[in-house]
Amino acid sequence: MASAATDLYTSVVNAGRKQTGPRSAQPDQPDKVVTVEPKSADEIAAVLTDPERYPTPVRPSGSGSSTTRAAKVASGTRMDMTRLNQVLGMTKRTVTVQAGMRLRELDDYLAEDGFELTGACADRDRTIGGVISSPTLGVQSDPDVRQFSASVVSLTLINGRGRKVEVTQRTQDLLSLVRTSYGLLGVIYSATLSIQPRVATTMRSSKVDFDEFVRLLPEIAEQQMAMHATCYPFRDRVYLEQRLQDGCSNDNEAAMLPWRLKDWASTTVLPKVAEQSGKFKRLVLAEEVINCAWLFPVSRFAAALQTYRKYCVRHYRETRFRCDLPADVWFIGEDKSSLLSPCFDEPAFALNIRSTRRDGWDDFVLGFGEFATHFHGTPVFNQTPSFRPAYARRIYGERLHRFRAMRQKLDPEDRLLNQYFAEHLG
Ligand SMILES: Cc1cc2nc3c(=O)[nH]c(=O)nc-3n(C[C@H](O)[C@H](O)[C@H](O)COP(=O)(O)OP(=O)(O)OC[C@H]3O[C@@H](n4cnc5c(N)ncnc54)[C@H](O)[C@@H]3O)c2cc1C
Repeated sequence: MASAATDLYTSVVNAGRKQTGPRSAQPDQPDKVVTVEPKSADEIAAVLTDPERYPTPVRPSGSGSSTTRAAKVASGTRMDMTRLNQVLGMTKRTVTVQAGMRLRELDDYLAEDGFELTGACADRDRTIGGVISSPTLGVQSDPDVRQFSASVVSLTLINGRGRKVEVTQRTQDLLSLVRTSYGLLGVIYSATLSIQPRVATTMRSSKVDFDEFVRLLPEIAEQQMAMHATCYPFRDRVYLEQRLQDGCSNDNEAAMLPWRLKDWASTTVLPKVAEQSGKFKRLVLAEEVINCAWLFPVSRFAAALQTYRKYCVRHYRETRFRCDLPADVWFIGEDKSSLLSPCFDEPAFALNIRSTRRDGWDDFVLGFGEFATHFHGTPVFNQTPSFRPAYARRIYGERLHRFRAMRQKLDPEDRLLNQYFAEHLG
């Protein structure tokens, strides 16, 4: 173990030399951060049990897409999980992988045998550990998998005391705690995920204005549609995208979006372009994009979306700032598979605003948060910058209380607790 621990000590990173994530909206100014890249479960345990060499807090990170300080440390240890990227086993129903594996690598591996994950994710650069540990909605083909983490059958966790814990469906309560636990109960070393034979799908898209989109919302919610929309508030334009399993692509199918939309076209390409100029101008790189997501109850979303549009216009008039990328909307069905699920009690629409412009972004996000709370929005801890901790405690209520109690039990020395979570979990 000692020599493994020596190998672990790959680098000491000083402030500014290396970023912990490419899309940080609120970067901490690190004093001294040790970055470690474990290559085995024992190495993870060695880090967690050696606070002298690997200072507290220890924060695991995947592809680093979180836009809050969830996976960041001002001083402490950053555990980069991406070297743990091996497939450990596969059956006809499951695949077991190390947590640092990228979805892209796993998708390709499964495709060779004609399989796919039941819970997919739109961005294939993410790591398995990251998408399990945070709310990640995907392009699911299994109606029971609302968030990626619901497709986890079992996993191996190294808790804050460096002990290996096998979490399986026999320990449902623990499994529900560990899904969407932001790396606060331990570091996920490996996960077993459900898979299925590949299903061919057809993408269909259409464009409507905001009023028409709002009119469609009840139907989308009622039919629990796998729907994604891209919203351009300044152009009063919404591109709708629906994924259908092959065999359901007939317009008369009940699962189809209406039918009243005359211009459905089969396409997989939506414009990833800047809105600012009003022209379809340029493609942007994922690394440049900052974002902020809130989830809204179905009953409030129509009003929230219209208010969002008005807010964009007013804010631009007053400050000349506007997001230069369109916002995303997804429908997410009720999901009780994890204790900190943001749609635990009811289905929700997620509204994710995005921009590459950073000057003025923080103020815009603050205002966005104000009206989001007015419409009973739910923040998520790694993708909603600038929400008030007291508000999150009210929204997550008793569940957050239970989570906090279990966190203290599994990590009594607070090895995994950074300043951000100390403030936001209370
Ligand atoms: C409604 C909604 C839908 C979303 N849908 C998508 C989507 O379709 N596609 C998409 O790409 N993103 C989506 N996101 C963003 C998503 O929340 C995550 O940002 C992303 O999936 C995290 O992956 P990552 O590898 O970048 O993890 P990181 O950002 O690196 O980490 C995320 C969290 O997980 C912890 N963590 C990372 N690895 C481990 C590990 N091995 N063990 C324990 N903890 C760990 C980190 O400490 C951190 O708290 C969505 C967010 C919301 C709110």
